Amino acid sequence: ETVVNRIAAGEIIHRPANALKELIENSLDAGSTNIQITIKDGGLKLLQIQDNGHGIRREDMAIVCERFTTSKLKSFEDLSNISTYGFRGEALASITHVAHVTITTKTADSNCAYRAHYSDGILVPPKPGVSAEPKPCAGNNGTQITAEDLFYNVPARRKAMKNFAEEYNQIMDIVNRYAIHNAGVSFTCKKQGSNQADINTLTTGSTVDNIRQVYGVNTASELLEINKEYKKLEVKLKGYISNANYSLKKMVLLLFVNHRAVENSTLKKMIESVYSSLLPKHTYPFLYLSLEINPKNVDVNVHPTKREVLFLHEDKIIGRICDAIQENLACANS
Ligand code: ADP
Ligand code: MG
Repeated sequence: ETVVNRIAAGEIIHRPANALKELIENSLDAGSTNIQITIKDGGLKLLQIQDNGHGIRREDMAIVCERFTTSKLKSFEDLSNISTYGFRGEALASITHVAHVTITTKTADSNCAYRAHYSDGILVPPKPGVSAEPKPCAGNNGTQITAEDLFYNVPARRKAMKNFAEEYNQIMDIVNRYAIHNAGVSFTCKKQGSNQADINTLTTGSTVDNIRQVYGVNTASELLEINKEYKKLEVKLKGYISNANYSLKKMVLLLFVNHRAVENSTLKKMIESVYSSLLPKHTYPFLYLSLEINPKNVDVNVHPTKREVLFLHEDKIIGRICDAIQENLACANS
């Protein structure tokens, strides 16, 4: 059974950045306004996330890492109406099947924090001969989750992850996206032992401030704001795009659907063709696009951690997005 679970876990957690994405979404679901991430060896040795969210109750600590444990679905009906990020209770369980996990957490109504260690979905003692029960300890309100030695028990996967710098880039890509999409939440991410964070956004920072910090788009005038609603399609579109005078060495498309960072290759291709006639050769645009779609119209059968997302009326919606981009660019340059 453990082997089956480990294979299932491998489907969800391909690399450190996948694990971190799930952990960030959990912290956001818990209402956090401050998220601090520490990484060692591209996340393979250490992935740690500290938040100031609502915490996990002592009595739930034994089960949070079991498969299908979720506090986010009240009824089966909810499955077709998912508004939070997570919905299957598989992420934490999966991580415990491929790493050593420690959780330290405190709810506001508890007078101390509790710490527990997990492996293969269950509580395990920190060392042989001691109890596996969560232990009281000092700590602030919120949750700290530490995943160590990722893929220690999947040698082939571990071997494939030789390039720590590349894994760290993937991690930063995820942190940057979520930081930009969640102005009002401060994010920091650094390598363990470094006193310099590689991103450090403020709770008071705006979306534009965060885009500037991460992508260096210099003035607000280089970014055009998009804010549209398509009532018939039940879609809201918000975001910022660079104007045609601003160009990057490769296209940056930060796409969110219902607040989850996703990819959509059709949309990407269409956007490339919109800009191709506008930008000089070998220069590329920046786009941050956030779509809110009636959850009923988003395909929930695609696995929650697959980044490619499908939605109903996709062609029409993509058409509207491209129209909006063209309209904004035309306005800015007239
Ligand atoms: P899901 O997010 O789909 O519910 P997860 O496996 O990601 O499943 O998390 C399992 C449960 O653990 C969550 O439903 C939540 O109750 C709890 N949890 C996980 N991370 C946190 C966190 N940072 N703060 C508070 N609760 C958390
Ligand atoms: Mg989750």
